[in-house]
Amino acid sequence: MKALVYHGPGKRALEDKSKPIVKEPTDAVVKITRTTICGTDIHIMKGDVPTVTDSRILGHEGVGVVEEVGASVSNFRTGDKVLISCITSCGKCEYCRTGMFSRCAHGGWILGNTIDGTQAEYVRIPYADTSLYHIPDGADEEAYVLLSDILPTGFECGVLKSEIKPGDMVAIIGAGPIGLAALITAQFYSPAEIILVDTDPNRLDVAKTFGAAKVVQYNAVDEIMKLTLGKGVDVAIEAVGTPATFNICQSIVADGGHIANIGVHGKSVELHLEKLWAKSVTITTRLVDTATTPMLLKLITSGKLQPMKLISHHFVLNEIMKAYDIFGNAAKEKALKVVLTN
Ligand code: ZN
Ligand code: ZN
Repeated sequence: MKALVYHGPGKRALEDKSKPIVKEPTDAVVKITRTTICGTDIHIMKGDVPTVTDSRILGHEGVGVVEEVGASVSNFRTGDKVLISCITSCGKCEYCRTGMFSRCAHGGWILGNTIDGTQAEYVRIPYADTSLYHIPDGADEEAYVLLSDILPTGFECGVLKSEIKPGDMVAIIGAGPIGLAALITAQFYSPAEIILVDTDPNRLDVAKTFGAAKVVQYNAVDEIMKLTLGKGVDVAIEAVGTPATFNICQSIVADGGHIANIGVHGKSVELHLEKLWAKSVTITTRLVDTATTPMLLKLITSGKLQPMKLISHHFVLNEIMKAYDIFGNAAKEKALKVVLTN
């Protein structure tokens, strides 16, 4: 089968790999019909994620059709249309029992990281019963690809962690797919205003269509302090993963405010405790647990959540090398999510 394979920082190839098989009774093999490239894959390509080793098939998002299930899989059978969660959970360990699936002792974020992922014609999904979701009959599959990772990530790591309340001033640093997912789901809680910060004017235009009250392209700290009359924001969401963007969050958070980090960081950041120590500020980190996927799935199915504008480009799986080039040059190519069909 065709698959996108990582060969160390900066090196990737579309290659022929053997089709995965059911190895454990709890496994399913899924034929991928739609997959996508994540900002995390770009971090992997830069060498920011050392757990990803040579010859790994990348990808942790996708929808597909169950091809084969192991003997103890009871929720899914061959032919079922499924959403693949970016987080694999055994459902039984200490962490899974508290809903912290991302820390699962036997899973967590392993797809396209420590085991082969979804940017391929087929993928093996361990603990299929607790790592896959049914897609309703007749539903538009494409919207569900956005539920594998970005919508639950923006919601859980950005919105839930920062405890956005009605009336809050919110700033989201980074208007990529994850920042936009946080923008969409933050509105569940009626914040007063959401300000989006990015250097890419196209992404800021998209942010406005998703409900950003204000957008800031340059001098983020000065602009946001002006917009908030010197108080700063109640919630600053970091959705990039660089020291510079984390610094913006530290500089704009209001007294008693929250900084919620979502970004994948490859370098350490400087924590300005000399300024923050007395401000009653909360800083949170989290990897998505996908515990909210069933709720988000209902909202997509009912049409309350309309994330399709997050998809900017379509390719077939065979064009994935080009799709990476385009997604990696997002500003020039006006790229958000690129969907690959197989
Ligand atoms: Zn991702
Ligand atoms: Zn577990």
